[in-house]
Amino acid sequence: MSVTSPRVSFDDTAAAFSFRDDRELSRMYWLFWLMNLGWLTHLAKYLIPVVIRLHLPVRKWIYDTLYKQFCGGETLEHVMQTADRLAHAGMHIILDYGVEGKETEEVFEHTCAEYVRMITYATRKPNIPFIAVKMTGLARTQLLEKLHERQNLTESEKAEWQRACQRLERIVQEATKHHIGVMVDAEESWIQSPIDACVMQLMQSYNRQKPVLFQTYQLYRTDRLEVLKSHILEAKEKAFVLGAKLVRGAYLEKERKRAVEKGYPSPVHANKNRTDEDYNEAIQYCLAHLQDVCCCIATHNEKSCQLAIQLMEEKQIAPDHPHVYFSQLYGMSDHISFNLSRHGYRVCKYLPYGPLEDVIPYLMRRAQENTSVAGQTSRELRLIQQEITRRKMLHQQGVY
Ligand SMILES: Cc1cc2nc3c(=O)[nH]c(=O)nc-3n(C[C@H](O)[C@H](O)[C@H](O)COP(=O)(O)OP(=O)(O)OC[C@H]3O[C@@H](n4cnc5c(N)ncnc54)[C@H](O)[C@@H]3O)c2cc1C
Repeated sequence: MSVTSPRVSFDDTAAAFSFRDDRELSRMYWLFWLMNLGWLTHLAKYLIPVVIRLHLPVRKWIYDTLYKQFCGGETLEHVMQTADRLAHAGMHIILDYGVEGKETEEVFEHTCAEYVRMITYATRKPNIPFIAVKMTGLARTQLLEKLHERQNLTESEKAEWQRACQRLERIVQEATKHHIGVMVDAEESWIQSPIDACVMQLMQSYNRQKPVLFQTYQLYRTDRLEVLKSHILEAKEKAFVLGAKLVRGAYLEKERKRAVEKGYPSPVHANKNRTDEDYNEAIQYCLAHLQDVCCCIATHNEKSCQLAIQLMEEKQIAPDHPHVYFSQLYGMSDHISFNLSRHGYRVCKYLPYGPLEDVIPYLMRRAQENTSVAGQTSRELRLIQQEITRRKMLHQQGVY
């Protein structure tokens, strides 16, 4: 199947970087150039968490480079400035509280309250239709693992799990009231099944009229395509709309390492081609069942986006169909986001915020994804370079 849309080209760098000034573009160029050095990124993955913990005086440098590229601000108030800039450029947002790895009931309550506060902020900004939620922000990872393994829980653990699900329900209730969507992130495979079960249960109550709650499907997992299809069928039978965010998956190395260590078959595909095939089939399947599913095509992969565009054109699905969203992470693949948006597609930037110290795992995943080995940076670098050159020419002609 050919995957080139005659209408949407991702090569328009003027549209892609319209909301970046020259200084920002130059900062981006150097950052992506550095991340392109695989060895440096590999080293940084180990060094940065240590230097942050030791309070070495590099915080400002990390803030001005990696943090500014991939995060919107350290507080909700601060991230609203980035949200406004994106609004000005016509871009929608999935707002994400990026804090990871905190594990007490007090913190879970605080995180839940923060998610509710995010909804309040989102209602004031027409360009924030969604917030993202991480279940590990609301429940202990060890508890999720125990549930996933179907181990017997103590009475106190049962109550703990009930409280975690109630927190998610509180968020969804608030979101429903204010017409904001909630996208629950997918995490490691060994904690995912209780998350899926809780989300599916709530979808049956809250996704009756329209999709409020979204599950995330990691198509690098060998079983997810079938799970997605069965969930769409379940939604049809039980008369609710499935919210489905489609991603390839962010924990490839961790998944493989644990499978080897514990001696079970790897839950992720053996190669990238198989992941791509399942991802593209998931798009195809969702677009063929739009009465039962609202999908968010969350990817930086140009071919997958072009495939979606082509299928939408063939099936005469309007670009702004309320059940089709595209999404890319803030700081990545603006050439896809802004060019899709320019052609009338519904596009959201996934925008995390939170104190620098607490978003380090997220930043490290982004840096890792942007090494030359991962293949993204050369594309980002080429596009940034192209835009810098274009602007220089316009400056010389006195146009810009
Ligand atoms: C809006 C948004 C939300 C996201 N939310 C989540 C989330 O909730 N949970 C989550 O886990 N991730 C999430 N991600 C990250 C996502 O899973 C990917 O890590 C990232 O987007 C890169 O995949 P891609 O499709 O953009 O790009 P591509 O470059 O096409 O694909 C890279 C991905 O392919 C897969 N891959 C690479 N090599 C192999 C191999 N040898 N074998 C098998 N598979 C391979 C990996 O998943 C890798 O991340 C999100 C991404 C976006 C854009």
